[in-house]
Amino acid sequence: MATLLVPQVTQPVVAIKGRNETFSVHRIYCVGRNFAEHAKEMGAQPSKPNDPPVFFMKPADAVVADGTTLPYPRGTSELHHEVELVVALGAGADGIVAADNALDLVFGYSVGLDLTRRDLQARAKARGLPWDVAKGFDHSAPLAPIVPVSECGHPRDAILSLHVNDRLVQRAPLSEMIFSVAAVLHELSRLYDLRAGDLIFMGTPAGVGPLHPGDRFIASVEGLATLTGAIAG
Ligand code: MN
Repeated sequence: MATLLVPQVTQPVVAIKGRNETFSVHRIYCVGRNFAEHAKEMGAQPSKPNDPPVFFMKPADAVVADGTTLPYPRGTSELHHEVELVVALGAGADGIVAADNALDLVFGYSVGLDLTRRDLQARAKARGLPWDVAKGFDHSAPLAPIVPVSECGHPRDAILSLHVNDRLVQRAPLSEMIFSVAAVLHELSRLYDLRAGDLIFMGTPAGVGPLHPGDRFIASVEGLATLTGAIAG
């Protein structure tokens, strides 16, 4: 049997609130344009429930633990915050999952930032090019510890919010999401085999804006999870 030239790469892990166990990350899927007011502020049409959602991905090792001071990413002069509900799957399924059964796959929930190089995204959009360099970069997915469903249930209308330097910049109830968690999992399963360890960033409400060196942020899903962090000065 061949030996490994590069030592076995270990999967990134995320903390689980109140447990010594950690959550191993398989893939990070993200939903775009899932809040109407955010789609409008970006000059895009909000998703319509009968159209498929907008999906993109980040590499698994983009996750960053709660309480981390992140480097300001190179290659951009317009780093933007997007606060999002994050779904963590504890089980997978081969093939298409019906929306009615999709929540059975959920291990827990968290809150995270879908950090975005907005200048690169704008350039990509203008040319009809992919968003990868704008979305899938190092340290682009800070994430709070995951809260098991057994403790928090499935959030429906909790308030999603973000403070930057103690100023409230994003705030909306999760009930404003155009695609629910169950609908997103069903739609994702039409394209990919869902697996334990998958994370899904559910899309951001209006109020996205810049993060500058030295900024501190606090993201939360009220009553469920809180993420703190900062951008290196
Ligand atoms: Mn986003």
